[in-house]
Amino acid sequence: MADVCQHRRFINGPEIDELESRLAAMTGAGECVAVASGTDALLIALLGEDIGTGQAVFLPALTYIATAGAVRLAGATPVCVDVAPDTLNMDPEDLERRITRVRRAGVITPRAVIPVDLFGLPADYAALRDVARRHGLFMLADAAQSLGGEYNGRAVGALADATATSFYPTKPLGCYGDGGALFTDQSERAERWRAIRVHGFPAGEKLQATRLGLNGRLDTLQAAVLLAKLDCFAAERERREMLAGRYDQGLDDVVRIPARREGVRSAWAAYTVRHPRRDVLRSGLADGGVDSMIYYPRAVHEHKAFADLAPAGGLPVAETAAREVLSLPLHADLTDDEADRVVTAVRTACGDLEPGNL
Ligand SMILES: *Cc1c(COP(=O)(O)O)cnc(C)c1O
Repeated sequence: MADVCQHRRFINGPEIDELESRLAAMTGAGECVAVASGTDALLIALLGEDIGTGQAVFLPALTYIATAGAVRLAGATPVCVDVAPDTLNMDPEDLERRITRVRRAGVITPRAVIPVDLFGLPADYAALRDVARRHGLFMLADAAQSLGGEYNGRAVGALADATATSFYPTKPLGCYGDGGALFTDQSERAERWRAIRVHGFPAGEKLQATRLGLNGRLDTLQAAVLLAKLDCFAAERERREMLAGRYDQGLDDVVRIPARREGVRSAWAAYTVRHPRRDVLRSGLADGGVDSMIYYPRAVHEHKAFADLAPAGGLPVAETAAREVLSLPLHADLTDDEADRVVTAVRTACGDLEPGNL
């Protein structure tokens, strides 16, 4: 950060190029384009494919609201897909059903799908890619929570046509403010993104904007922070993995612990358990001095701004999960003793919930 204040290239400084190269190498994606936030990453990716009016973009009903917001900002129509009961990631069978329904209704055209790697666990890419390919959909991965994760030996960033991530401070790779990045293996696609993030000006051109764009650049200062944090990124993921294992062992019999998948490595953005009496459990934890968070208290279509997306019959798995999820403390600086205190607090609170003890 001191170097950046010396050279004073606060916009598009050399740290941006260095960060993009390191992230491209780390993910094996080929191309990385740094942007101002995870939300901008999603929006820029949609604009880059000219996705907009009259087109349907499928996304899971249980995600951060930004996924749906970006689709609407691009002018396209978000279509919510239910999630799988075990992983809480997009259910490929329900995706197929929703695509068929949209086609039958004949009002908008299926165009893209945005799988979200919820809590850091990569979605079911093999099955989703199969559906996407059959219907000719562009696949944009929302990997805001999963940078550092892996799916069948391939890193997050190289699992879809395009991948968007976020450097919001609590994400697996967090900066000291807002930030994000896009990944692809197509250089022309990356060139379009580079133009869109500077108001539509192509590389080396400052006079003629060739497409619609925005101010979606990452600050050089944030790139400097990220370059430093990349040095301990892998070690921090390993530490979260160890802590998650400790939680699994201590909590398996009292709450529903996060699903794991053969060949899939989570980035462990969150350790999220489920319990039918989540709110009582949460206040029990608070009494025991343990903080917890609810990601997410409502499904996308349960927000007023997106109420029009609620399909007939609802999206039952996502709606139920929103009432049961509770994320426990999880970060690389958490000590074993602190993790054990969390386990004890959860077990105590669950014990108090037993019918005999109410
Ligand atoms: C955080 C997040 C975003 C938005 O990222 P920002 O950097 O906060 O704009 C989008 N999608 C998901 C799934 C997220 O968790």
